Amino acid sequence: MDAELLRQYLEFYQDLGIKTLYRQPVVIPAATIAMDLPPLAPANDTLLKIIEDIGDCHRCRLAEGRNKIVFGVGNPESPLVFVGEGPGADEDAQGIPFVGRAGQLLTQMIENTAKKEGMQLLRKDIYICNVVKCRPPENRNPEPDEMEICGQFLHRQLLAIRPKVICALGGIAARALTGHKEGVTKMRGKWFQWREIPVMVTYHPSYLLRQYNQEAKREAWEDLKKVLHYVYD
Ligand code: URA
Repeated sequence: MDAELLRQYLEFYQDLGIKTLYRQPVVIPAATIAMDLPPLAPANDTLLKIIEDIGDCHRCRLAEGRNKIVFGVGNPESPLVFVGEGPGADEDAQGIPFVGRAGQLLTQMIENTAKKEGMQLLRKDIYICNVVKCRPPENRNPEPDEMEICGQFLHRQLLAIRPKVICALGGIAARALTGHKEGVTKMRGKWFQWREIPVMVTYHPSYLLRQYNQEAKREAWEDLKKVLHYVYD
């Protein structure tokens, strides 16, 4: 993790003091967990400790082609965490998740939906990360062993943040968090669970960028509305 990235990360280190009342969603229990559960997180784990432990990671083959490790960005005390699949080219270049076209759409979706629903919420107020922290070559899907190795850090991130809700973006994140193997079309809009934290599955923004996916876009907006009301009402 380079110094500039660490600086940007610390900039987001803020306590927004968001107090929320919320309804309990109907939750679908986790299936056989896709990734092995990680070793217990160290006591008093923090995002900074996790960054230190990742170090100049070479635990899997994704290290070979990466430019920057993409750890995560946003408010480390956020009640809402979005989890994507893995960095693309723009993210690999900048070391920040969801900064390319898909990321811009995600930002718009979060901020515009919140505004429409009467909530003051910006991208910097929530936390965003990925299942794998290094870009898979040619943007291929991460392999199971890569997800398992990197998954320990995702799990530690989620345990350190302890959000009220996790939103899984796309099938890879959904599978990694819930263990369910159905396609995202079947899973979206429903509540699952990761260690007692409700997980909402929705479409990956890259999928929504394809022009013919107007209906999927509408559905993703519905999913996001559910998430925002559950967390912030
Ligand atoms: N797609 C992802 O899943 N994650 C990113 O950070 C960018 C694109």
